[in-house]
Amino acid sequence: MRPPIAQFIAEKVRVFDGGMGSMLIAAGMPVGQCPETFDADKIQNIHEQYVAAGADFILTCTFGGSALTLGKHGLAERTREINRRNAEIARRAAGNRAYVVGDLGPTGELMEPFGPYSEEQIVAAYAEQVRGLEDGGVDAFIIETMSDPREMAAAAKAVRSLSPKPLIASMTFTSTPRGYRTVMGTTVEQAVEAMTAADADILGTNCTLAPDDIAGLVREICRYTRRPVLAQPNAGRPQIEGDRVVYPPIENLEQHIEAILDAGARLIGGCCGTNPDYIRLVRSVVDRRNKS
Ligand SMILES: [Zn+2]
Repeated sequence: MRPPIAQFIAEKVRVFDGGMGSMLIAAGMPVGQCPETFDADKIQNIHEQYVAAGADFILTCTFGGSALTLGKHGLAERTREINRRNAEIARRAAGNRAYVVGDLGPTGELMEPFGPYSEEQIVAAYAEQVRGLEDGGVDAFIIETMSDPREMAAAAKAVRSLSPKPLIASMTFTSTPRGYRTVMGTTVEQAVEAMTAADADILGTNCTLAPDDIAGLVREICRYTRRPVLAQPNAGRPQIEGDRVVYPPIENLEQHIEAILDAGARLIGGCCGTNPDYIRLVRSVVDRRNKS
């Protein structure tokens, strides 16, 4: 048995996994395929690579697993079953070596008054996903890559109405001349306030920013909260090469990982474009710091 997550993360800096999307493509996922229904063995193999690279936490392959997002593939009716399957895949890969975190991403739809969906509809779309992730035995939940604090709150409401397990809320920011903002214009302070009000145990930021420009954001988040903070930057700044997105390597990556930890992150992983090699490097930096 692994210790409760709260205790596990209080002891030391801990490592999350890296990106799933680019790994799925590398594993042969066809364009247009719904990632949540991709080959189970291939998904499991990606999880296993992250566990072998030293991830303490792995995220289920359910970023687009809300009923609304699966509905775009005609799979809304199978939301619970698909999420259960993918939680079980991650569970098998994790064994007793890592915690499994049920992953909830944005629905890709706008809530009233900017879009057609009521709060109740968004909560219901997430609730069906949460039921499946619970069926599959996840250890915790993460709501990630959120730009709209209200959608984040709706997802959190769905989790909290169904599960007492640890909840991570992670929002994504761009760097603007006026400071870090979500694309909805939310400030860091407002985002922290919203994530706290949503009863997240761990607050985080992921995606959009590269390892060399996320430390300032982490520092700012830490200024507004005493809760543990998770940072999951992208591998770098994306470039389009033909029909693919690539992330040219960041110089001095190790120093940037150090800077993210110096800024106050207690949990660190990677988002788009990161891979097991990146996580291995994160692991080695974290191990060195945990020892000293
Ligand atoms: Zn990302």
